[in-house]
Amino acid sequence: MATTVMVVEDELKLRDLVRSYLEREGIVVLSTGSGAEALHFAERSPVDLVVLDLGLPDVSGEEVARELRARYNVPIVMLTAKSSEQDRIAGLELGADDYLTKPFSPRELVLRVQAVLRRGHASVTPGAPLSYGHELEIDEDRREVRIRGDVVELTPTEWGVLLALAGAPGRVYSRYELINRVRGYEFEGYERTVDSHVKNLRHKIERDPAHPTIIQTVLGSGYRLGLRRDP
Ligand code: CA
Repeated sequence: MATTVMVVEDELKLRDLVRSYLEREGIVVLSTGSGAEALHFAERSPVDLVVLDLGLPDVSGEEVARELRARYNVPIVMLTAKSSEQDRIAGLELGADDYLTKPFSPRELVLRVQAVLRRGHASVTPGAPLSYGHELEIDEDRREVRIRGDVVELTPTEWGVLLALAGAPGRVYSRYELINRVRGYEFEGYERTVDSHVKNLRHKIERDPAHPTIIQTVLGSGYRLGLRRDP
């Protein structure tokens, strides 16, 4: 089935430009300039990724991102005219999987979109699922995570973080390492954004997110998987 991307951008020229670049890659594009309509679209038809402008005329991009995050696991690539570091971090804390500041090259956007989509479907080593006691099972082929027997839906970034940690249980990964593992290209270096993805991940997988046992924080260093892999 063709990949479907929703483009939410109120600048018509930019929206059409992005649409034509994505369509050239064989991607089906739904587009709108309204945040409310974007949420309506998302409800009616499944999309594989959302390209979302932060500055929308009706519902703010932040609000749209929050709503999408609360209801779906669809990856989000954010666009913004704001360029201060604080704004970027705020966007990523909403759970965006990537971020581009205007003006950007449409070609770069296509590459980022493709990278995020690939991450979502990444299958590193085909084979039997990895299991960690009764707590966690990771099936890379099916891109499926089971927590205490139940399938849990993760965003591409959450999947990448968990997969990196699970690849070497007990090993401490710095935030920088995790960003590099997950993003696979030069990232602008907001290591704190890892924390927000870990926080979201913990809410999905930990019995008590306030006292995590699966993804442990190692103060001053980073994160590690607190489970042992079954032999
Ligand atoms: Ca705008």
